[in-house]
Amino acid sequence: MRQCMVADPRCRLYENPRTGHLRSAALPYENRGLAGRGRTGGILAVVDTINPAGARVERRAGDAMALVVMKFGGTSVANVERIRNVAAHVKREVDAGNKVAVVVSAMAGATNQLVAWVNEASPLHDKREYDAVVASGEQVTAGLTAIVLQSMGLKARSWSGWQVPIETSDAHGAARILNVPGDELRAAIESGEVAVITGFQGIDPETGRVSTLGRGGSDTSAVAVAVALNADVCDIYTDVDGVYTTDPRIVSKARRLPKVSYEEMLEMASSGSKVLQTRSVELAMVHGMRTRVLSSFVAPDQMQAVTLDNLDTIGTTVCSEDEIVEQQVVSGIAYAKDEAKVTLLKVDDKPGIAARIFGPLADASINVDMIVQNVAADGNATDMTFTVQAAELTRALAVIEAAKKDIGHFDVKASDGVAKISVIGVGMRSHAGVAARMFQALAEKGINILAISTSEIKISVLIDAAYAELAVRTLHTLYGLDAD
Ligand code: ASP
Ligand code: MG
Repeated sequence: MRQCMVADPRCRLYENPRTGHLRSAALPYENRGLAGRGRTGGILAVVDTINPAGARVERRAGDAMALVVMKFGGTSVANVERIRNVAAHVKREVDAGNKVAVVVSAMAGATNQLVAWVNEASPLHDKREYDAVVASGEQVTAGLTAIVLQSMGLKARSWSGWQVPIETSDAHGAARILNVPGDELRAAIESGEVAVITGFQGIDPETGRVSTLGRGGSDTSAVAVAVALNADVCDIYTDVDGVYTTDPRIVSKARRLPKVSYEEMLEMASSGSKVLQTRSVELAMVHGMRTRVLSSFVAPDQMQAVTLDNLDTIGTTVCSEDEIVEQQVVSGIAYAKDEAKVTLLKVDDKPGIAARIFGPLADASINVDMIVQNVAADGNATDMTFTVQAAELTRALAVIEAAKKDIGHFDVKASDGVAKISVIGVGMRSHAGVAARMFQALAEKGINILAISTSEIKISVLIDAAYAELAVRTLHTLYGLDAD
């Protein structure tokens, strides 16, 4: 039996498929030592938690060798030919003496297909079985990548989430990483073997069942592995060569950012930039893991192998703010077109009403983004507007309908033709007037603002989706981001 054996309800034993050794995985992560690193504020309450495991892979003084995690997204492993290209990138690093862990996504489109099959089988399905199905895409690419690496003469093997193990919560379909013990993994890498790890999937140590981290989750897998291995850098290879001031498909004058701070990247990711999964940035920020965005479409021999000195010469490095010397007031403009707006009209204006609306939405794991509550004109009824992802609109409306008896009377209006445009930059902390200029510029183009939300380093506006591209272009020019 390969999976896991139950000795005691709190103590699962995993069988190592290679050695046959049994290992307990039931210790809570706090008991594993080293949990202190990165525990700042209350952030860990909402992000994946990893213990960086003890010593990093041995290296001698003066050694330029690095421990590198290389993650390849779906378009980079879209077919066997692309996987050969990925393998060539890996070989470059191995040939230079670096130790390498590879994390792969499923082939482009594969996960969508798997999700579609699950929904076709039954729209209301057991989330654990959803995970059993959708986790399979990464297993295909991990195995194929290992095979291709071996055919090039490298030592390599694939690792599934449960083999590493990547231990997660039991929130199937959107599991959080709790711990990556990874002793075996580390030993394998130390011995010079390339470890090819399935992104996106893990295991619930309580039940021994396969879990997945939510769409786009292999970025988070990669950062988690990098943290657990105490890697020098986590390289996210994708189909663009870095993070841009905005989407280059909309603004041809968009520029690549050589460096971007964790905070800004986090805001960009949660404001619609699709380059990195938000959670991966949270994790990198909490652990200070240097993360780069690089293109796998650059010929493998046209890139230098990683050394500890050349890390910031290509792509975009996501790093701490104080490493960025020339900080702009605004670093980027993000947009999200897949937003939906819900307005509850004439809800009672009394204490507890917001909790009764947003509590059930949170319980249903529906992310609410912007919230606007109007002043009650007649003193007792008001309008409450909020946004959710368009894909969650139907579910959100159902949740609200189900909570109607608690919320009391309201009429509901919903539309999904809205877009959120966000202006992001840590420089906003020390510069006034960024928002005022934004509103003025949008007004001059006749763009109506439906809702506004701000953070210390971000201003977001909700507008009619038809004006999204015009707004992005206008703001890109306004804040001096256009390339000359
Ligand atoms: N294959 C998964 C997805 O499409 C995970 C990933 O690619 O990051 O969501
Ligand atoms: Mg991705």
